[in-house]
Amino acid sequence: MNNLDSLINHFEDFPGVGARQARRFAFHMLTLSPTDIAEIAELITNLQATVAQCQSCYRFFSRSGGTAVECSICSDQNRDRTKLMIVERDSDIVAIERSNVYDGLYFVLGGTVPLLNQKEQNPLRSGALKAVVESRTAQELSEIILGFAVNPDGENTSKYVEMLLKESITAFSIKLSQLGRGLSTGSELEYADPETIKNALINRH
Ligand SMILES: [Zn+2]
Repeated sequence: MNNLDSLINHFEDFPGVGARQARRFAFHMLTLSPTDIAEIAELITNLQATVAQCQSCYRFFSRSGGTAVECSICSDQNRDRTKLMIVERDSDIVAIERSNVYDGLYFVLGGTVPLLNQKEQNPLRSGALKAVVESRTAQELSEIILGFAVNPDGENTSKYVEMLLKESITAFSIKLSQLGRGLSTGSELEYADPETIKNALINRH
């Protein structure tokens, strides 16, 4: 396979990118200046060395040369440690932070549990989530918010997490809440506007 086809193949593996778009990306790269190409190549090469995964919430954050093991949200002592919101992916946190109404902590599950999970496989960070919740209940955790998309997979994931954490929730009388109305059916948090997320959070139940 030639260079161009290989590059197109890689772009096709990106989330949300189809064959046609992958081809457009590759052809766009052919129009860039050598300086831009060199910069992009260097950014990609160094990406994993400059970005770390937070050991508390599992989101990716820029280490900017330091040796931090927790992201800026988890290490911020002003955040409300009684609340933990579980979301599907990193970009959901960005969307929620933009709404400026939530000051608790997060946990990134890393995916959803599809309604039609025929293989019954569980690639999510269930073990890590359980451990985080158990260690936090000993501290001050009093509310867990399920922040998943309003669609069948999101609802199924909520049920799954509820079952997974049932013991801790019961034993420590933790309040379990879901985002309220406002998020339209089928909508993903990532694409919801700040005002909608704000209302969904205020009206959580
Ligand atoms: Zn974190």
